[in-house]
Amino acid sequence: MTLKIGVIGTGAIGQDHIRRITNVLSGGEIVAVTDVNQEQAKQIVEVEKLNAKVYDDGHALIQSEDVEALIVTSWGPTHEEFVLAAIKAGKPVFCEKPLATTAEGCKKIVDAEMAYGKPLVQVGFMRRYDKGYRALKNVLDYQKIGEPLIVHCAHRNPTVPDNYIGDMAITDTLVHEIDVLRWLLNDDYASVQIVTPKTSSLAKNGLKDPIMVLLETKKGIRIDVEVFVNCQFGYDIQCQVVGETGTANLPEPSSVIMRSEAKLSTEILVDWKDRFIESYDIELQDWINSTKKGIVSGPTAWDGYVVAVVSDACVEARNSGEIVSIATGDIPEFYKGNLSIVGEA
Ligand code: NAP
Repeated sequence: MTLKIGVIGTGAIGQDHIRRITNVLSGGEIVAVTDVNQEQAKQIVEVEKLNAKVYDDGHALIQSEDVEALIVTSWGPTHEEFVLAAIKAGKPVFCEKPLATTAEGCKKIVDAEMAYGKPLVQVGFMRRYDKGYRALKNVLDYQKIGEPLIVHCAHRNPTVPDNYIGDMAITDTLVHEIDVLRWLLNDDYASVQIVTPKTSSLAKNGLKDPIMVLLETKKGIRIDVEVFVNCQFGYDIQCQVVGETGTANLPEPSSVIMRSEAKLSTEILVDWKDRFIESYDIELQDWINSTKKGIVSGPTAWDGYVVAVVSDACVEARNSGEIVSIATGDIPEFYKGNLSIVGEA
């Protein structure tokens, strides 16, 4: 059985997911697409030689009898309305982050899904599918370094475009660490403080860059995340867990080790798309397989909601300079059986 998928939003990542479902993965077929830019939607149908209808808007696509499941890859502020409409139609939906742009919007989705009575929503936090993070999770889950005590992280981009402004270091960049670290540690956050060191002279548009995010979890683990989006040298994701009996580092992406011109060197990636390309494949394949079984096995609407609450607290902490408490509430029974907490190398 092939899962008939409709895609709302055929921009960068929408096209990427269409390409992987059509050419790389199995068990899914793109039968419908839409975008406010209709020309772009028509073009992807042509380029990928899809047997897909181009719809006028997302709501018409969601209602279509031809569409069994949805991928929402439109502009962030539109996600909430499309995910709510998908739940209303009883259709499984994979939504790229953010689930909604406000914690309130995410909570509406959680409430609508629980009222519907069956999990339908998966959020696109792909780092949980990265082999390196899964291997690191195995080390922690099997207590190979004892209980985790401290986590040191860095999220570095070489540069960012001119439209990267305001709180985006938190709402666009840090959100990946917010999700993956609570999954990695089987824990939730209790508080956050943000400190701003000297700003790089290469940061543009009044951006304070880098920032240091200091999180504390409910179990008392201390996390520091350096977010530095104008580091110049590459796209660099670091994560080191300090445990009671050892340390464990996120593996570096594999690269040729060169001895040349009196130097021992390995390449550093510069594009985030290359760093996590395999995790997107694994993520989408897992979504197709799980959707066919009628389950959600990846990050849930609850996970999307928690990230939004923590992200809001981070923004408040940055604006106030204070330590801000984080209250996400207890995970509802409805979401407890979710499988996304399981790691595998
Ligand atoms: P993008 O290139 O700007 O694509 C978004 C597309 O959605 C654009 O073609 C836009 O059209 C279209 N759109 C806007 N409103 C729409 C509506 N009401 N109905 C249908 N289409 C609509 O952005 P992107 O980089 O693909 O990102 C899309 C989403 O994915 C964002 O939420 C982003 O945060 C997320 N994302 C996640 C990851 C990840 O690592 N998980 C990576 C990349 C992106 P116009 O351009 O004409 O407005």
